[in-house]
Amino acid sequence: MNTNKIRRDFPILKRRVNGKPLIYLDNAATSQKPEAVIDALTTYYKKYNANVHRGIHKLSEEATQAYEETRKKISKFINAKSEKEIIFTKNTTEAINLVMYSFGMQLEPGDEVISSVMEHHSNIVPWQFLQNFGIKLKFVDINEDGTLKIEDYEKLITPHTKLIAVTHVSNVLGTINPIKEISRIAHKNNILLLVDAAQSVPHMEVDVQEIDCDFMAFSSHKMLGPTGVGVLYAKRELLERMKPFLYGGDMIREVSLYETKYNEVPWKFEAGTPNIADVIAFGAAIEYLEKIGMKNIEKHERELTKYALKKLSKIKNLEIYGPKNPNQRIGVISFNLKNIHPHDVASILDQEGIAIRSGHLCAQPLMKRLNIQAAARASFYLYNTKKDIDKLVQALLKVKKVFKQ
Ligand code: PMP
Repeated sequence: MNTNKIRRDFPILKRRVNGKPLIYLDNAATSQKPEAVIDALTTYYKKYNANVHRGIHKLSEEATQAYEETRKKISKFINAKSEKEIIFTKNTTEAINLVMYSFGMQLEPGDEVISSVMEHHSNIVPWQFLQNFGIKLKFVDINEDGTLKIEDYEKLITPHTKLIAVTHVSNVLGTINPIKEISRIAHKNNILLLVDAAQSVPHMEVDVQEIDCDFMAFSSHKMLGPTGVGVLYAKRELLERMKPFLYGGDMIREVSLYETKYNEVPWKFEAGTPNIADVIAFGAAIEYLEKIGMKNIEKHERELTKYALKKLSKIKNLEIYGPKNPNQRIGVISFNLKNIHPHDVASILDQEGIAIRSGHLCAQPLMKRLNIQAAARASFYLYNTKKDIDKLVQALLKVKKVFKQ
């Protein structure tokens, strides 16, 4: 993989921040976009902007074809059985909410959902809402090394458990969860599995048939695509049974004053004019990732993670959260410098042109479990280099100097 060549495809990487070249290490929050994605967006608006699925005219035909082409690309990218299993949403959060409304709200009082303490708020808060309808919420814990306590599943599962919702990769700990094993446990007990793949699909090959998950959610903006587009993958037989999530135009086949026959799957779940331009540009992002190859991207990020863990662990008073074994994690490294608030760390790094995340990382229950208020987080992608990590280390040493450590 030629990182130097890749970097040239990302115009923003030429930017300077506070007089220094930008070092972007906030990829778990959102990724940067290559020229091909930006071009796809402007080409749509310049050449064939029209509404989809309705018009008979040429522009509408072209827009519809490009929009539906992305659905096919995604379906192939995650190896779904059919593009009918791909629903466009706004983001991962909306995809999970769709499952909560269309599947979760059909559950009976007394039914149970199992989430985990390492989840992003997006995979906790929607399930909490179901508590208003008598649904019980349970959580799998983590081990001291930041891996999931898999044995908790068998302990928590009862005949009333209907759904396991779990992240494939933690956005804080970087832990890669043994998702196939969790899927086996779920299905052995007749439970459906929802996988939050916001941090996995952008960074590794993910095969929904191999995992055999029932639902999977991820976001375009974390995988080189535009903001405003997410994906819900769901097994077709489930989608056929589920009620629509939003109601109105586009999701209908026939409407009379008091009754409506809904459109087929997946359009039954896409009410109103969709985010046409961004979906089309998301297709360009998938093409870009496929051209580089997900295996190559994963390998590159693993090397960076190994390198970063080695370098960071040499810094005194720096605590890294999550598994120590680089093979168990992805390029997301959360850490704290003793007695220095992570916002101060991030702010000094910003002066050096380095963008990292700091705060509760949208995982307050996990922060509580780790006995911390907040953390700093560096996260990598295909355009990052070992040089970026060296700069990060240098800047952290500077932070320590400022705080006289
Ligand atoms: N789940 C995980 C694991 C995430 O990292 C994120 C984004 N930080 C989300 C869900 C939510 O994604 P979005 O904001 O795109 O809905």
